[in-house]
Amino acid sequence: MANILIIGGGVAGLSAGIRAQLDGHRAVICEKLPAAGGNLTGWRRGDYRIDNCIHWLTGTNPSTPLYRMWETLGALGNGIGIHRGDSLYTCEWDGERLSLWRDLDRLERTMLAVSPTDEKEIRSLVRVIRAAQAFCGIGGKRHNKGWNPVLALRDVPLLLRYHRMSTGDLAARFEHPLLRAFLTDFISERFASLAFVFVAAHFCGDNADVPAGGSVAMAERMVERFRGLGGELLTGKEVVRVLHNGKRAHGVQFRDGSIAEADEIVVTLDPAVVFPRMVGLPMPKGLAARYRDKRLMRFSSWHCAFACDLPEVPFHGDFVIKPDPACQFRLGAPVLTVREFSHDPNAAPRGSTLLQTMTVCDEATCRRFIALRGDRDAYTRRKQYLAKWTERALAEQFPELDGHLSCIDVWTPATYERMIGSEIGSFMSFAFGAKVLPLRASARSGLSNVTLASQWLRAPGGLPFAAEAGMLAVRAITAKYRHASRREGKAETPAVLGTEEPIG
Ligand SMILES: Cc1cc2nc3c(=O)[nH]c(=O)nc-3n(C[C@H](O)[C@H](O)[C@H](O)COP(=O)(O)OP(=O)(O)OC[C@H]3O[C@@H](n4cnc5c(N)ncnc54)[C@H](O)[C@@H]3O)c2cc1C
Repeated sequence: MANILIIGGGVAGLSAGIRAQLDGHRAVICEKLPAAGGNLTGWRRGDYRIDNCIHWLTGTNPSTPLYRMWETLGALGNGIGIHRGDSLYTCEWDGERLSLWRDLDRLERTMLAVSPTDEKEIRSLVRVIRAAQAFCGIGGKRHNKGWNPVLALRDVPLLLRYHRMSTGDLAARFEHPLLRAFLTDFISERFASLAFVFVAAHFCGDNADVPAGGSVAMAERMVERFRGLGGELLTGKEVVRVLHNGKRAHGVQFRDGSIAEADEIVVTLDPAVVFPRMVGLPMPKGLAARYRDKRLMRFSSWHCAFACDLPEVPFHGDFVIKPDPACQFRLGAPVLTVREFSHDPNAAPRGSTLLQTMTVCDEATCRRFIALRGDRDAYTRRKQYLAKWTERALAEQFPELDGHLSCIDVWTPATYERMIGSEIGSFMSFAFGAKVLPLRASARSGLSNVTLASQWLRAPGGLPFAAEAGMLAVRAITAKYRHASRREGKAETPAVLGTEEPIG
């Protein structure tokens, strides 16, 4: 089989590497940072442990094909615990709160209690969430129904109705401001309403939860799995150039000047960086069209982490805050989300709590952060300013926290751009609006032995699509080699653990 060189040691790269070893190839992952994991990461600040990825991992329901994929990748299974919180997030309007409860009946009851006049739309929303669950094979009381083509067909018209709406359009159908905020403040009003529907479907279907140990532990398990299968992980190895003759690549060049050769190259990075800087060829047309499509939006976020010297905070899970207009103006955002970590015993020292905020920003804001970082002092001042106003927003929302918070870190799209290397500091691929079908783009690069395995091939990206991209790229290579050896009449190298686990 092939010597495969994989560029990038994030989830896509690790998944490609694991699939390659399972298929009998020899895989080497080249990662520029000192550790693998990419955006599936976290770090320490003093006694606090920041987790900067998994809010929900799709595929935590053991009856789903995605769970089996995560098992193959060493991410789940094997007794690894899963935290299943009661609610995904909470919104507030005029002192009244609404949470996205795991129990869908409870969510329906709560919404009806908030606004009986919105009954028709509430019932329809709950119906489409159940339809999405049936579509994903997680329907029924125990969320283990499996995919049923007849039921799926029955639900298509209902799903199509929501496909035509953004969350803003959907919210406009509700009278009560809390319900409207509930639909648009966690997932932006510009995004497809089906994004909200599927997030709720997976969460309420026990299929979008947090594995024990959080993001870093999951990345470490995947690294262990890859190495356990005989794969080689090179860290601190930044690829600067794919070496090719216009048709075929023969290797890569690293920042330190060294060169590595390979039969096949798998590229997991943002294509907006790969093609102009690393390959020196135009991006394939289909993919380039996506970067130009106004209905597909690139985004990132900036964050603050606060140490809180209280043993408890007055909310659970994620809470969406709408600061007062002056504060919104200063933060440059209408809402921010704050997360507490009571589910993670290692997040904060005993008697204290860790709070992390996340404020989503559009492409133009991302570019401003990246440009500002060129002036270190101005960038530092901007981060201090954001931390001050974020703390103020938190204290306004929760007066109990006033005087108990101290900022321990601020990071921005410029941090993602510097560390992970995506063009505008994105950590997922495109968010999409109404009427967009997020089909998978071709993995072809224009060079016969260079395959794309990037989350950018399928919006909106995220961990499952990154893993899927890695696995599919290697499956294509394996198929190519099997086909070639059959043609030449050679004996095929058997796959090590030849299972072809399903991909979600
Ligand atoms: C705050 C936050 C919250 C998130 N929440 C969730 C969530 O709840 N659920 C979910 O599914 N997803 C979530 N995500 C998204 C998820 O982290 C990503 O979709 C996923 O990690 C992408 O993996 P990847 O391998 O495709 O890319 P990356 O993680 O970007 O990995 C690319 C790797 O390539 C390396 N690299 C870059 N340039 C080079 C080079 N020249 N040479 C060698 N190596 C290079 C990078 O260092 C990195 O390790 C979140 C991300 C963030 C930041």
